Amino acid sequence: MIRCPSCARPQEPRLVCDQCGSPLPVPVDLDCFSALGFPRKLTIDTSALEAAYHELGRKIHPDRFASSASNVRALSLSGTALLTRSYRILRDPISRGLYWLELNGEKLAEDNKSVPRELAETVFEVQEQLADLRGASGDAALELQSEIEKRRVELSSTMDDLLAQLARNFSRWDASSGSNGNNNGSDQRALVAELKTILSKIAYLRTLLRDIDRGLETMKAA
Ligand SMILES: [Zn+2]
Repeated sequence: MIRCPSCARPQEPRLVCDQCGSPLPVPVDLDCFSALGFPRKLTIDTSALEAAYHELGRKIHPDRFASSASNVRALSLSGTALLTRSYRILRDPISRGLYWLELNGEKLAEDNKSVPRELAETVFEVQEQLADLRGASGDAALELQSEIEKRRVELSSTMDDLLAQLARNFSRWDASSGSNGNNNGSDQRALVAELKTILSKIAYLRTLLRDIDRGLETMKAA
């Protein structure tokens, strides 16, 4: 519990006092879900999230506290920063998944140093095509360009599949950690492992798609 500096009401850690509307001193470890007043669930209604972000943003906006005591003004500034950061992390399912792993003491990088096996070959081939494209000219370049563009379409649809897998993983996790008290440790470990695998593939694919776009842009600019 924290205490409002303006009206002294004790309450759960949150950004804005539910009694007087003053910005609250949030604990340093306040998570992004609590900052936005959402339960710690992986599946999020993004329009509700956006609405909460705008509503809290209005309530805590520094302009509203321009003539308040300096500690209240400072809280409005730091609360606004935390609100924006939390919204950015939660609105994107990929950064939300990564953040959630971190909250649960799991790190993606540590067990995912290598390219996921299923993607390794594709990554290698595309990087090679991109290198060839840099050295190519005339018809050869055009041909390579169209091959890479075709590859891009395939990879985008792989990305869509992965995002759908991510959404399914999120809802399975939320269902298994619900209030029914039937948490199954081994199920949850399997879900976390799956979440890491999906996120790691997405990370590689995202980098690859970015490289492709850069390669194609350079080509068009030339
Ligand atoms: Zn208050």
